[in-house]
Amino acid sequence: MTDQAIATLQQALRGRVIGPSDADYDTARALYNGMIDKRPRLIARCVDAADVMTAVNFGRDQDLLVAIRGGGHNGPGLGSCDDGLVIDLSGMKGVRVDPASRTVRVEAGCTSGDVDHATHPFGLAVPFGIVSTTGVAGLTLGGGTGYLTRKYGLTIDNLLEADVVLADGRFVTASKDQEPELFWALRGGGGNFGVVTSFLFQAHPVGMVYAGPIFWEATHARAVMRAYRDFLPTAPEELGLFVGLKTVPAVDPFPKDYWGKRACALIGSYNGPAAEGEKQVGRLLEGLPAPAFNWMGAMPFPAMQALFDVFFPKGLQWYWKGDFVKSLPDEAIDTHIAQAAKAPSQLSLTHLYPIDGAVRRVAADATAWSARGATWSMVIAGIDSDPSKADALKAWGRAYWKAIHPFNMEGGYVNFMMDDEAEGRVQATYGDNYRRLAAVKALYDPKNLFRVNQNIAPAVLATR
Ligand SMILES: Cc1cc2nc3c(=O)[nH]c(=O)nc-3n(C[C@H](O)[C@H](O)[C@H](O)COP(=O)(O)OP(=O)(O)OC[C@H]3O[C@@H](n4cnc5c(N)ncnc54)[C@H](O)[C@@H]3O)c2cc1C
Repeated sequence: MTDQAIATLQQALRGRVIGPSDADYDTARALYNGMIDKRPRLIARCVDAADVMTAVNFGRDQDLLVAIRGGGHNGPGLGSCDDGLVIDLSGMKGVRVDPASRTVRVEAGCTSGDVDHATHPFGLAVPFGIVSTTGVAGLTLGGGTGYLTRKYGLTIDNLLEADVVLADGRFVTASKDQEPELFWALRGGGGNFGVVTSFLFQAHPVGMVYAGPIFWEATHARAVMRAYRDFLPTAPEELGLFVGLKTVPAVDPFPKDYWGKRACALIGSYNGPAAEGEKQVGRLLEGLPAPAFNWMGAMPFPAMQALFDVFFPKGLQWYWKGDFVKSLPDEAIDTHIAQAAKAPSQLSLTHLYPIDGAVRRVAADATAWSARGATWSMVIAGIDSDPSKADALKAWGRAYWKAIHPFNMEGGYVNFMMDDEAEGRVQATYGDNYRRLAAVKALYDPKNLFRVNQNIAPAVLATR
């Protein structure tokens, strides 16, 4: 790649091209996960679809490895690459709410907080994840789970349309009526099929919620997890409530007596009147030991979405393992408790996010996401600020996963995986949908230009 070629790219883009000699190169290449340190050859900061088309054509014609960056939150840093081109969409932040149709057009650089900010004044929200700094693009293309999932489905179940730049540089709109196979694959198949420049989502009435965390000391974890497991199928879908094994943060406003103690937590949001939310959660609390603290209360939905942001600033070390979980027998609960107790840091955690309710009402072959029979999406995350702990975080996550995986389904959520999964794990995740995904990939990206992701090999290549 010549300097002349780079200069031509810069001239053609409205956004900036950043390379290793630029003063802000290190800031521009930094990812959310401090464990990942990738050094791209070029970062193309796109500002619109035209920039993205130019960047895709450039990457392909220059035979560069191409990575696509939305929010940059991905665990293994699949929003970047070494020695290639990063198509960086983080500056594309437009959000337009149409209150009449309750739809929201979201550009691909938005975080979920950006969208919540725009929709809340209209009394609306789109189902996204539980930390507001997460990128909408990667989260959506992998599936998307959060507090509104039980009632309104995965983020992809609320996706109406996506604008996409394909590997050959063409711009298309995918929806159920246009490029329907592409639209099917985008809903769960990750960044395999092209660069999405904007999404059109269905939003829902969400304003004030009854939400927050309830913590018990770890000695009560078995009772809490069993009660939660039995309660979930009886809980109204308006209640998105997950269970976690964690440590009480040693900071205000947490009660000093509990600082640094291992804990079991229920964290959730009820979309409806606070009194009704309290009543429903009260049913679960009956018969359980008194919690260390119960901070559920009425708050605006975006406040709940951002509640944990402060604990997870950019640059921490993260090691991720995920699985889909159908049922939670007592033995699995005991295994969780035993493994979680060995956590190597205060921030390390296990969460089980419910994906029952509306998720199950969609057929397994209606979108690329096939785990429609699961009850939870499990994540084990080893987290710490100290880079010297990286090996300990990895060792803990791997040993924990090995112990708990026999109780779980074969596949896991692609957005909760690193890039060190066993061969066949991505196939197992997509199950019967994998063959169709490989065929769509062959149609839209036959040379696998977009391979910095949980990769789906094009069918033609796969059979060679
Ligand atoms: C603190 C934290 C909390 C999280 N909580 C949740 C949660 O509650 N629910 C949940 O579902 N997930 C959650 N996640 C996981 C999250 O979904 C993934 O990390 C996801 O990859 C983030 O998307 P991104 O755009 O920020 O990532 P990036 O790193 O920018 O990209 C991730 C992947 O998506 C692809 N991609 C990104 N943008 C595009 C695009 N425009 N077009 C095509 N491909 C693209 C990239 O190629 C890459 O493979 C969380 C992650 C973190 C770090």
